[in-house]
Parts: sequence; structure tokens; C-alpha cells
Amino acid sequence: MADKKIFLSESDLPTHWYNILPDLPEPLPPVIHPGTLQPIGPDDLAPLFPMALIAQEVSQEQYIEIPEPVREAYRIWRPTPLIRATRLEEALGTPARIYYKWEGVSPPGSHKPNTSVAQAYYNKQEGVKRLTTETGAGQWGSALAFACTLFDLECKVYMVRVSYEQKPYRKNLMQVWGANVIPSPSNETNVGRKILAEDPNSPGSLGIAISEAVEEAASREDTKYSLGSVLNHVLMHQTVIGEEALKQFEQAGDYPDVVIGCIGGGSNFAGFALPFVREKLKEGKETRIVAVEPTAAPSLTKGKYVYDFGDTAGTTPLIKMYTLGHSFIPAPIHAGGLRYHGMAPIVCHLYDLGIIEAVAVPQNPVFEAAVTFARAEGIVPGPEPAHAVWAAINEALKCKETGEEKVIAFNLSGHGHFDMKAYEDYFAGKLPDYEYPEEEVERALAELPKVPEQ
Ligand SMILES: *Cc1c(COP(=O)(O)O)cnc(C)c1O
Repeated sequence: MADKKIFLSESDLPTHWYNILPDLPEPLPPVIHPGTLQPIGPDDLAPLFPMALIAQEVSQEQYIEIPEPVREAYRIWRPTPLIRATRLEEALGTPARIYYKWEGVSPPGSHKPNTSVAQAYYNKQEGVKRLTTETGAGQWGSALAFACTLFDLECKVYMVRVSYEQKPYRKNLMQVWGANVIPSPSNETNVGRKILAEDPNSPGSLGIAISEAVEEAASREDTKYSLGSVLNHVLMHQTVIGEEALKQFEQAGDYPDVVIGCIGGGSNFAGFALPFVREKLKEGKETRIVAVEPTAAPSLTKGKYVYDFGDTAGTTPLIKMYTLGHSFIPAPIHAGGLRYHGMAPIVCHLYDLGIIEAVAVPQNPVFEAAVTFARAEGIVPGPEPAHAVWAAINEALKCKETGEEKVIAFNLSGHGHFDMKAYEDYFAGKLPDYEYPEEEVERALAELPKVPEQ
């Protein structure tokens, strides 16, 4: 009987992150300044990010060494296990072999600290004293709070006010790790004061929280800003997931035919999938690589590949991505996470080149899959990775029909212990399946600045 869990020893912890930029068959379109419509340079980003991360953002080095203090921090929870979903296979009656990479073993319970500890380290190196960020439900905020406590930085998190009030436990988690958590809009920034003057009861939004965190970082010498997804360096830090998984498959004497991840901004999917993309591009492996998104925020499957702002407020540089338009407002009843209007440029580029596939799924089948998984394997998935669970189960059921013994691998990016309200609503039948209308995308995109072909 093969092992259920494929463990690596700490000596197998990756020494380098994988940077896919030099391996792309066509270069990534540049990020554009919204005023000049010219590609932005390091100086444009310097007020917000440390130089080391700005350099990583555009680096053409294929492998970037992971600094020893970051590896030391990773050792708290890495390498993470690759687990054979034997009990799920049995429950489904599939001839497929299903594996999942389990990132929920990190202290904050998700893949996000793979980048937060790296970002905290580089900021510390460059003499930064404080980091600001925004958070919605609190996953990224808690990952950054955790990293800041490891590297002795102050952490200030602007948390969307409704989440601050309705989802207190992640706020408390951030406070345990020493972060200063502020409900947004707040009186601490010009943006916040302006919004509160107009509407003292504003529930806040991720866009407002971003604007507050960015304003504070840009206006203080000792403070920088930190982002938890989308950017090239964030995706690169996440590649420890896929690099470990490759070693684990080698150890198991197996190799995936299908690699699956959920996509919000694209970081956990990319972190898991990019090393497999490399094997596909360089070694001729015929792996299918599938990104799974909600039908309520279907960037890849319904968005357009154009230049758009990265944030809802329309203040960031323009990024070429599959987007629903930065004025996209997610349906309030959508419980499955993954609400971003755009998608990481690297993920978009690979999709545009036909190297990866995408599929969208409504939330009820997602939660149904999550419950099936939890009843078979025990682990309760977060609503986001439950999208990947759905796709894996779907592939496995196809194998049941055809009798194919495919190897299916997915990234289980985090646990759902703080998401019980979403499960409660699912069991109560309160979650409508929502399909974002195509006309809305057209309408939102009509308002965008036109960027000439690069
Ligand atoms: C934040 C988060 C996501 C979505 O973000 P990506 O950048 O697309 O990975 C997915 N899963 C978990 C557990 C998260 O915390």
C-alpha cells in the first residue's frame, strides 16, 4: 500500500523560487502609467515597495535564491504534505488517483505566508519599520501580521468595516500577532476622512481600504505597502508549493495528468502550477493545467484581455489582464471568496497563450464538493480551494465513466475554520447560484482608458 502522506524532510525545502518570466514563449506585456501611457519604471514603485521586490517584479533570472532567514521562517510549517486522497477516491468510486497539496498547515491557515514572510524580510533588510495593507475577510491581513511578528515590524491593517464588525475572529488573530487593525474607512487618512464626511456609516470596501493603506505608505518614510496576490513577485514566492510537489511526486513515483488550483488573484494557483508549467514547456510533459473561478467573478472565462486598473478606486498603474472592469461589484450573497475583478498578469498571459485552461463554477456545487471532501478526507476546505476540490472531483467522476486511471493533483490552499458562516448559509439553502452578466463586463470596460498596443 502506497503512503497516504508524502512528506519531505526539511533538507528538501526549496533553496530557490522559480521565476517563469524568462521561460515565457512571449514576453509579459508591460505595466503602464495611466497618465503617460508609458511602461512604468522602478521609481514609480519605490514609495510603496522595497527595491528588492521591485527588482524581483521584472527579474529575468530563472531561479532566485530564498534568503536563509526566509527559509528559517518557512521551516515553521514547510515542507507541507502532499496527500493522496484515498478515502475520497473510494467514496467517488473512481479509478483516478487524486492528490492534494495541503497549505492549510501554516499558522494563519493558508498559502499566503509563503509570500508575506518573504516580503517582511526584504522590507526589514531595507530599514523599513512598518507595513500597511488592506484586508477583506482577513486572510491576507493575518498572513502579514504573522510575518511582521517574525521579523519584528509594525503592521497596520485596514480592514473593510463590515468584515471588521461581522467577522471578528480574524481581526483577533491579527491582534494576537501584534497588528494594529483599523476599520476602514477610518479617520487616519485623507481618503478615509473624505468618505466618512460624506457617509459616516460607510460599510467600506476593499477599494477604499487599499487607498487608505497606500496613502499611509506613500506619505511616510518608514512605511511601505504590501500586497498578497496578483504581482509577479508574489506568484514567484508561492512557487515553493509546486517545487515541493514535484519532488513529492518523484518520491511517490507518480506524475499528475491534471493540475488544478482556484484563482482569486492567482497566487496559490500559480504557486502550485508554475513549476508544472515549466515541465510542460521545457520537458514536454503533457499536463493539463486548470484554473477554477466562481461564475460570480469570472475574470478568465468572461473578462476581456485589456489594460485596466489594479484597484477598484482606479489609482494604480494599468495592468494587462483578463478583467471584469475595475468597477466590478461582487454579488453580496457570494460566499465563495475569489472576488477580484482582474487576475495576475502571468496567469492571464498563460491563458491567452493557451498553456493553461480555465473553468467557472457556481457556489452551490462548490460547497457540495467541499462537504463531500470533508466527509471523506476530514479536512474542511476554505470556500476558495473548495473550487479546486470541485474541479478535482469533476475530473475524477469523468474517469469513473471512461475507466481512465488519471492522476489528478490540486492545491488545497487553506482551511475553512473561519468560514463557518458560509457553510451555515449553504446548509440553510441561502446561497443562490449567480452568473455575472456579460453585458456588465462590456459596460464597465467601455469606461477604461485606451492603451495603444505595446
Ligand atoms: C486569499 C486566498 C485565495 C485566493 O487568492 P489567490 O491569490 O488567488 O490564491 C485562495 N485560497 C485561500 C485559502 C486564500 O486565503
